[in-house]
Amino acid sequence: MTLLASLPRIEEHRVSVVFDCPKCHAAAVRGTAYNLRETIRVSERVPMWGWSSHWVRCSECNAELQADCDPSDFKGASPATVNNRVHAYFSFPKRFLAIAGLAFSWAPVVGLLVAIAAVVANLRTAGWPRVVSIIGLVLTTIYNAVVFGSIAYWTVTVARPLAAL
Ligand SMILES: [Zn+2]
Repeated sequence: MTLLASLPRIEEHRVSVVFDCPKCHAAAVRGTAYNLRETIRVSERVPMWGWSSHWVRCSECNAELQADCDPSDFKGASPATVNNRVHAYFSFPKRFLAIAGLAFSWAPVVGLLVAIAAVVANLRTAGWPRVVSIIGLVLTTIYNAVVFGSIAYWTVTVARPLAAL
């Protein structure tokens, strides 16, 4: 019995929609709403864990945008309705970096480097990853300033008189 690492992409329930693409900013562009079914299988016949997510693919730029409802809800929906339920998808590395920047903000030097990388990666990303990465950078800057500031303070005020003795 081998665990198949491959995730077969199965697109289900395709529905044609008209919307304004948040990625390429094309107005009233055609798109395809679909459910993406991904399954981790224990063997060819035994699925272990499956989930499905909702997406809309832009016909103009081929971007895959996250939808927060089932494609069937888009049947006969107005572009405004579709626009409200479709969001630009943040790639995993960007989301990961943004969260890592915040999670490692307590780590001297490393936290600062991760936070800078996160801010750079998310500079052109609109939405929460950019906000989170900036918060991470601010926190880690303060933290690093306090840590190295106190090291410098103790070196000057405590270590020096001790060395002089
Ligand atoms: Zn597009």
